[in-house]
Amino acid sequence: MTAQLMRVKDLTKHFPIRGGVLNRVVNHVKAVNGVDFTIRRGEVLGLVGESGSGKTTVGRLLLRLEQATAGSIEFDGTDILGLSKPELRRYRKRMQIIFQDPYASLNPREKIRTLIGHALHLHNIGEPASREGRTVELLEQVGLSADYLDRFPHEFSGGQRQRIGIARALAVDPEFLVADEPVSALDVSIQAQVVNLLEDLKQRLNLTMLFIAHDLAVVEHICDRVVVMYLGRVMEIAPAETLYARPNHPYTEALLSAVPVPRPGRRRKRVVLKGDIPSPIDPPSGCVFRTRCPRAVDICAQKVPELKKIGPDHYSACHLTT
Ligand code: SF4
Repeated sequence: MTAQLMRVKDLTKHFPIRGGVLNRVVNHVKAVNGVDFTIRRGEVLGLVGESGSGKTTVGRLLLRLEQATAGSIEFDGTDILGLSKPELRRYRKRMQIIFQDPYASLNPREKIRTLIGHALHLHNIGEPASREGRTVELLEQVGLSADYLDRFPHEFSGGQRQRIGIARALAVDPEFLVADEPVSALDVSIQAQVVNLLEDLKQRLNLTMLFIAHDLAVVEHICDRVVVMYLGRVMEIAPAETLYARPNHPYTEALLSAVPVPRPGRRRKRVVLKGDIPSPIDPPSGCVFRTRCPRAVDICAQKVPELKKIGPDHYSACHLTT
């Protein structure tokens, strides 16, 4: 057993755009471009970036909900991109996803006992008679009770629905969870409760997690390390403590400048990025961040910066990093 549960190498996903009378491929949305990172057993790895950075696509690629264009994804030593459908089914049991919008991922016409029972049935877990007991156990694990078994999704609050989504993901007893913006659709007051629940479940069930978020404030307390993405590429990877104390990449600095500092009297210098993230159909040459980077120099338009090691467990992709 290796310390790494997942190793992602040169992962690329280009979505074809078709057009014309012959419906030919006329262009590509370059959603993910040569992404490298690892996920260690038992850690929570944050994956952060603005909308359009490619982070959700990466999460879906890891679970093979999307087919990669190139690269490799090793899960527990096996390249899962080469697995056949029956082989993949065995791996699917080991990895699950929690969606951003719990309501959209729950069938509104099914009661909670059916919604969670289906997941057990689908993966052939337990005898039909024991499934109700397991369903109650799962509800209790996420802070709900057996009283909720015969209710429909619309009878729950947003936070409770996300708890049901988590219970359903846990039904197959996974090792690895992709939490795709699990709190961004929730009220701020509820967000911390759901993050705390995920942290608690991670400890109790020895889970490994990829936690996707669009801002660094959400992942600060739950993540061990953080990967920052922009326009399909990795900008920086660092242990959470290092990233929040000493960010290296200008994009991380800008994201971090919007995160409040808990200590009174301390404030980060606000960096406001101009304009929107460019189109992934035609990303800028060289460093993809250069059109919004306050420190861009000539070379930034000519050469793609390498993701270089700059400290223990700390990597950054910027020409100005020495
Ligand atoms: Fe900015 Fe250039 Fe560094 Fe990119 S490589 S982040 S454009 S300074």
